[in-house]
Amino acid sequence: MDRERILLTPGPLTTTLRTKLAMLRDWGSWDGDFNVVTARVRKSLLKVIHGEDSHVVVPLQGSGTFSVEAAVATLVPRDGHVLVLDNGAYCKRAAKLTGLMGRECTVLAFDESQPVDAKALDAQLAADAGITHVVLVHCETGAGVLNPLQEVAQVCERRGKGLIVDAMSSFGALPIDAREVRFDALVAASGKCLEGVPGMGFVFLRKAIVEGCAGNSQSLAMDLHDQHVYMERTGQWRFTPPTHVVVALAEAIAQFEEEGGQPARLARYTGNYRTLIDGMSRLGFMPFLDPRVQAPIIVTFHAPGDARYDFKTFYGFAREHGFILYPGKLTQVETFRVGCIGAIGRHEIEQAVHAVELALQDMGIASGEPAI
Ligand SMILES: *Cc1c(COP(=O)(O)O)cnc(C)c1O
Repeated sequence: MDRERILLTPGPLTTTLRTKLAMLRDWGSWDGDFNVVTARVRKSLLKVIHGEDSHVVVPLQGSGTFSVEAAVATLVPRDGHVLVLDNGAYCKRAAKLTGLMGRECTVLAFDESQPVDAKALDAQLAADAGITHVVLVHCETGAGVLNPLQEVAQVCERRGKGLIVDAMSSFGALPIDAREVRFDALVAASGKCLEGVPGMGFVFLRKAIVEGCAGNSQSLAMDLHDQHVYMERTGQWRFTPPTHVVVALAEAIAQFEEEGGQPARLARYTGNYRTLIDGMSRLGFMPFLDPRVQAPIIVTFHAPGDARYDFKTFYGFAREHGFILYPGKLTQVETFRVGCIGAIGRHEIEQAVHAVELALQDMGIASGEPAI
């Protein structure tokens, strides 16, 4: 049966037909019409975080990681020193790219089932005066933990450190207000909670630091300062823009605004999350995280304890029933993940739970109960 499957992954996500249809046209990158779309997208993005007065937004070609890498390359001087608050896979990725770009990098490690701790950050900054920048992942998509952005931002401000936030999987869904939270850079992408298609990231830069970033980047393509200056001057992207991705994002943002913006998106995802937890619990599954630290973005479940379980087979059966699941990303325990984000509502989540139930039956497994 050739029906489009529903993606329960942290990106790419299921998008609306309207967003997909926006891509059925070719655009010239020098064309005035396309520049209008880019300008409109940038303006709406700033509005999402109330950053019109304090920040600029710089779009960049590529997946979200490209923009994280660009933010570090652009903000951190070559002799700078980055502290990464690490409670999962995306934090580790940020630390790795920081080191590869030749910046000194220190990792402050936390348990992957817990949020990072602003007090521990404060102590680390007190102990090592050489640290210039802190990297925080807002929602650690690895396990699904929500990290304390406001507390971390306050510590960084008090200690005079730059803060780079990877808000890839939270932006658009969880509240982020630039008038209340101080950050130097915040990174997100087209294909996550805005429900566009993947292919571009964007970085909010605090206006006060933009000029000072000139010449930091050791990479031409990743230089957000250069991209910003060029875009302000010409209205165009420096190099070939992902035109179809940009127009799809513009259409996705229009629907985001019609739905009621961030609060409405959070409400829908929270409904998805509750429906998922209720349904999966009925099947015996156990979430990995304490609900108090869980963001309503992606849920990690323990693998069933039944000896017949293996993820690939489970994935294959769930796929046959119309739903794409996601593997776990934890180092210690066997898990799998189910996303709550995308152009889906609780009816689709109920159907997804039913697909999981059928997949268990296909495997001869009576319950999703874990071994622990
Ligand atoms: C999705 C995501 C990224 C970007 O990953 P890509 O594979 O480059 O799109 C980065 N950080 C977090 C927290 C994410 O969820």
